[in-house]
Amino acid sequence: MLIETALKVLQKYFGYTQFRDGQQKVIESLLKGRDTLAIMPTGAGKSLAYQVPALIFQGTTLVISPLISLMKDQVDALQQFGVSATFINSSLSLGEVRVRIERVLRGDYKLLYIAPERLESENFRMLLKSLNVSFLAIDEAHCVSQWGHDFRPSYIQLGSFVNSLPQKPLIGAFTATATEEVQRDIVRLLQLDNPNVYVTGFDRPNLSFTTLRGENKKAFILDYVQAHRDQSGIIYAGTRKEVDHLQAFLTKHRLMVGKYHAGMSDDERKKSQEDFLFDETLIMVATNAFGMGIDKSNVRYVIHYNMPKNMEAYYQEAGRAGRDGEPGECILLFSPQDVVLQRFLIEQSVLNPERKLNEHKKLQGMVDYCHTPRCLRKTILEYFGEEEVPNHCENCSNCNDTREIVDITLDAQKIFSCIYRMRERFGIGMVAEVLKGSRKAKIIEQNFDRLSTHGLLKDMSLQEIKDLINYLVAESYLQLSTGEYPVLKLMPSAVSVIKSETKVMKKVSPQPSRDVVEEVSLFDRLRALRKELAAQENLPPYMIFADSTLREMSQVCPENSREMIRISGVGERKLEKYGDEFLNAIADFMGTAKFKRSGSFSLPVESSMDSTTKQSSKATNINLALTDMAKDKLPSHVQTLILYQEGYSVEEIGKVRKITELTVQNHLVRCAQEGHAVPWDDFIPVEQEPLILEAAHKAGREKLRPIKELLSDDIEWFTIRAVLEKHRELN
Ligand code: ADP
Repeated sequence: MLIETALKVLQKYFGYTQFRDGQQKVIESLLKGRDTLAIMPTGAGKSLAYQVPALIFQGTTLVISPLISLMKDQVDALQQFGVSATFINSSLSLGEVRVRIERVLRGDYKLLYIAPERLESENFRMLLKSLNVSFLAIDEAHCVSQWGHDFRPSYIQLGSFVNSLPQKPLIGAFTATATEEVQRDIVRLLQLDNPNVYVTGFDRPNLSFTTLRGENKKAFILDYVQAHRDQSGIIYAGTRKEVDHLQAFLTKHRLMVGKYHAGMSDDERKKSQEDFLFDETLIMVATNAFGMGIDKSNVRYVIHYNMPKNMEAYYQEAGRAGRDGEPGECILLFSPQDVVLQRFLIEQSVLNPERKLNEHKKLQGMVDYCHTPRCLRKTILEYFGEEEVPNHCENCSNCNDTREIVDITLDAQKIFSCIYRMRERFGIGMVAEVLKGSRKAKIIEQNFDRLSTHGLLKDMSLQEIKDLINYLVAESYLQLSTGEYPVLKLMPSAVSVIKSETKVMKKVSPQPSRDVVEEVSLFDRLRALRKELAAQENLPPYMIFADSTLREMSQVCPENSREMIRISGVGERKLEKYGDEFLNAIADFMGTAKFKRSGSFSLPVESSMDSTTKQSSKATNINLALTDMAKDKLPSHVQTLILYQEGYSVEEIGKVRKITELTVQNHLVRCAQEGHAVPWDDFIPVEQEPLILEAAHKAGREKLRPIKELLSDDIEWFTIRAVLEKHRELN
């Protein structure tokens, strides 16, 4: 009963059909009035888990949120969904604060967001007392714990604030941090009353994970971003200097790249962040200072140029990819120097010895992740305490490793013996120069040109030699000493390679996966429209509609409001605001905008061509046929159907008409809806039909996505549409 009400709210405002894993339990628990601690990974949909109850409860819900930018983002997004919400924080003038407070007291808002620091003000506490808060949602609740990775002292006073209220409100605490210490701290310090604790599966199946060791990182990143030019992505680097370098490097290659780190001025950072949110720059190079306040849902990849300090930080940062449920790639480029840096940072920190030890332990977990041959997803999920995780996910670089293994023993021996002859007193640059056969002054001065290893790898480029040495460090044959000038040392395993007791193998790295040329032109068109509308309203494009919503629109091609509201992510408010624009764009794209739907044309019953002519001069014929049909002013989708009936394949029609296969498919669906007979069986593998019908029976025929989700991935969207259309005919 309770959950039905919640589902209605979900549909009405947010336009989604189902709760995601975990959301439902949390919402039910809150609706029953139980304090609730929800542990959900980034991107799993925490916000909705308190926003939906807030819309059901009487009065205003108070949301504690740690970052000003996050608050504004959430409030903007809520307003887009037609939910009345506001925030009060230090970015507002006193006058604005006053106005908002008055409106809060009048009950104009369902949700009020504030930063915990606000509660330090006695005046503000008084105000909240008169407000009679019934539900308090605490976002990023791990900030209350010293063991969390971003402890915020002001969170600690939340407990005493709750006690000071005339009536204890219901509390919902939300975090992505799963360690037990943090959980215990949250329950204790926020004084949760016999809470229900839910840990949502940490898996984000739409994310793929890759680790690469000993890679030429810059070259890899350049290749990758060039191959994904039209996609939005974040590249995290460890230090400000590295961010500056990397951004300059990519900019030199004519890429539009923003940067973000704490060394920039507030204005610079703000501008950079906005450009990224508004899709003005697609690539963001940043330190970990970037992202806490970012809810951009269409980030398609997150690359780590350096290894982060622990798995919590990694999963949170990587989790910023694919929030909209569409595929996201998470790539970590490991080099051993990263470990040295992180160890150094822990040692330099002001933490007490016990916490330092804890940080070292977490760092080791991260290093292990970079080296494990096991499934990466399993490694992550087990780190977060999940049990019975399948051994293979088939969506990480360890499960899908198709790289070729090559024997590099000989080159490794040359490198090791060179280091040995240089008495293990030099760094990567110098060793590489000697192997390359350099005659620079510093080499001659040391008499290294007389070493037997001088010039042993002269056929390789200097960079290739350095990359290879880095690989051998990453694989622990070599060690880099700490300190300002790291020096290469041989490890015992290198010695056994020199003695030819063991071999060294290397996997040849994959080329970054190029984007498949997808049939997305309608999607692109909708994306462009979204950008236009967003610019008019000064909103980030993803707040108009998520990528996943646009993709579904371009698959389903709704023709009217009734069909449009069935698209996941289209709620009542957004339908009203944007529905017509998107419907027009879709109709326009289908080439039918000006065509009257009554359809006063008739289809030729039989083809005028016999099959032999058809075979011999197919291309000419198709063009002739097209010219004729255009003369007859037949609408575009009907021309497609006629060609199909004449024996041309979807692919051939697409090629000749210069439209995508998706458009051809859409034309066929449109024809069927207008009453023309389309031979759907051509598109339905026999064994898939009953499966699709069963799924449609369970999920309803309203939307395609829920049906698709019940089926295995190899069943295509168009097959589902074909089955639904076929059976619509029979009804
Ligand atoms: P988190 O706070 O856990 O990182 P968000 O609350 O920002 O995640 O949600 C991530 C994305 O998932 C948002 O774009 C949100 O609109 C979407 N989302 C949340 N719940 C659902 C749902 N039940 N169905 C479809 N999309 C959802």
